[in-house]
Amino acid sequence: MNSTKPAAIRQLDEAVVNQIAAGEIIQRPVNALKEMLENSLDAGATSISVTVKDGGNKLLQIQDNGHGVDREDLPLLCQRHATSKLREYEDLTSINTLGFRGEALASISYIAHLTVTTMTHGATHGLKVAYRDGVMDPAGPKPCAANPGTTILVEDLFYNSSTRKKALKASSDEYGRILDMLGCYAVFKAGVAFSCKKQGESKPDLHTMAGSSRLDNIRTVHGAAVARALLPFKATQGATGTAVLEEDAASFTAEGYASGPDYNGKKTQLILFINGRPVDCSPLKRAIEATYAAVLPKGYKPFVFLELQLPGDHVDVNLHPTKHEVGFLHQDALIEQLCAALDSLLTAYDTQRTYKQTL
Ligand code: ADP
Ligand code: MG
Repeated sequence: MNSTKPAAIRQLDEAVVNQIAAGEIIQRPVNALKEMLENSLDAGATSISVTVKDGGNKLLQIQDNGHGVDREDLPLLCQRHATSKLREYEDLTSINTLGFRGEALASISYIAHLTVTTMTHGATHGLKVAYRDGVMDPAGPKPCAANPGTTILVEDLFYNSSTRKKALKASSDEYGRILDMLGCYAVFKAGVAFSCKKQGESKPDLHTMAGSSRLDNIRTVHGAAVARALLPFKATQGATGTAVLEEDAASFTAEGYASGPDYNGKKTQLILFINGRPVDCSPLKRAIEATYAAVLPKGYKPFVFLELQLPGDHVDVNLHPTKHEVGFLHQDALIEQLCAALDSLLTAYDTQRTYKQTL
């Protein structure tokens, strides 16, 4: 028998709990930026500008023209589990905001220096205040000149976590992730103007306009060759949007663009949004690759942008701390139907093309 005494079980300090939670949600700069971007979209922003220094490790700033934050809500802004979006757990199935946990800004304030400048529409001036470890600067918000909307400045990410800091990749790698994430949203939210630049540079690396279409933004973000090769894609099954019947197992609507058989990408690109959230779904990606493999010459890889709508109660958005993976019901059936629709699209295009060539 082991004679050493067991260590006593103790409740962790709240600050430690919060720092652990923060580490789960924010693993790298792009996670922090995605949370802030989703807040801007939830606030109804139609213009979002991002500035980045050292891949986001030194500085991440996001400016939006959304509804802003009321003065009386500022003390709660970075408090963990304080949110304006969710009231009851059941609301999660019908949630129409991207945020719901009230954890993002709190987490960021535990691992970085966070400063907020905000101005509600119709206010005469803005307010600026810093946060640390979930708490607003006791000196309170200071009046300042501002534009309507909110600017969040995050500096020195992971200043208090040397392991995490060391684990981060070179800043160009982190910046690449940031541009990829913003690019996905820029295509999906074509009604919103996006820009992203490195601090000190005048030319943005990503720039989309508010009035452009999804296809315009695919062209801007991914290039003209991709945009030219795309076929519009639509598929529906069941009664999504109306009352969903019990036996209506895999009901969904899918809409997007899929590259035609002539497109020769280097790697498969699947940009997938499920119920308005950007997500990864490896089984779907593999199935799409297999569908294309039957049509494309060897080594050619497709580009697919897909927006899926599923009944709210078929999707579990709360599966993963970074919300990057969602769980949904009837996954296999759904993937099968989607790929069958994609296959008919590609085959029809191929047949039509062969027909034209033989004329
Ligand atoms: P959540 O988004 O889950 O509610 P966050 O920590 O991301 O949690 O944000 C906390 C709250 O701060 C939000 O519920 C929202 O009311 C407010 N907020 C955050 N960012 C913005 C923003 N850019 N514009 C307006 N309000 C914001
Ligand atoms: Mg949020």
